[in-house]
Amino acid sequence: MIIAIDGPAGSGKSTIAREVARRFCFDKLDTGAMYRAVALSALDRGVDLDDEPAVDDLANTISIRFPPREGSTTRIEVDDVDVSDAIRTPRIDSCVSKVAAYPGVRTAMLTPQRAFAEGRDVVAEGRDIGTVVFPAADIKIFLTADPAERARRRVLQRHEDDDLTLDDLADEVQRTLDAIRRRDELDSSRDVAPLTAAPDAVEIDSTAHTIDEVVTMIADLIQERRGA
Ligand code: C5P
Repeated sequence: MIIAIDGPAGSGKSTIAREVARRFCFDKLDTGAMYRAVALSALDRGVDLDDEPAVDDLANTISIRFPPREGSTTRIEVDDVDVSDAIRTPRIDSCVSKVAAYPGVRTAMLTPQRAFAEGRDVVAEGRDIGTVVFPAADIKIFLTADPAERARRRVLQRHEDDDLTLDDLADEVQRTLDAIRRRDELDSSRDVAPLTAAPDAVEIDSTAHTIDEVVTMIADLIQERRGA
């Protein structure tokens, strides 16, 4: 069975996909991590991100692997080097959409994404899972949330163990909101595989729902489908 979860930055896809996968013992595929890995590799190797053919070449050359999980965190390696933390920085947030818009990069990612799901049950999350990667997915979810709420959640998640003032948090929420809006705009307006709901996707607006409530909605859809 393939469950596709698409949606904009900060809509809760990762947390929700992880929990659905855990409940049903499915494997989770984080396709955003793959585009992040391409952006990071380009920066590390001094490849100019505006040089589309060079970035395409790089995407076709590097080997991206998801080693077995430790606990609940997804690990990702590029050419056998663990980059799981290095891909989650504001620097990568701000440039990943540029490389993800290159058709050559997207084609290079498609084969490993489809290979990952061969012969197993998968929850895959990204921007084009239900439209391009797995158009025949058994269940398609398009997960949204109000941008201000997405920014607030991101910042709270980032600083759950820190002692910041409310003013510091408010500033960061504003900066995060601007960055989220920019990324949504780039991801939704590109020519190839833009962020959009598949016609047969179930749209869930998580603004007023807890993670648990959304997971339960998706779990119910899976049970229904299994019983059908
Ligand atoms: O999901 P995440 O925020 O990690 O994705 C990072 C970026 O990767 C997105 O902003 C988007 O530009 C790109 N992406 C994509 N297609 C996917 C998944 C992610 O273009 N299926």
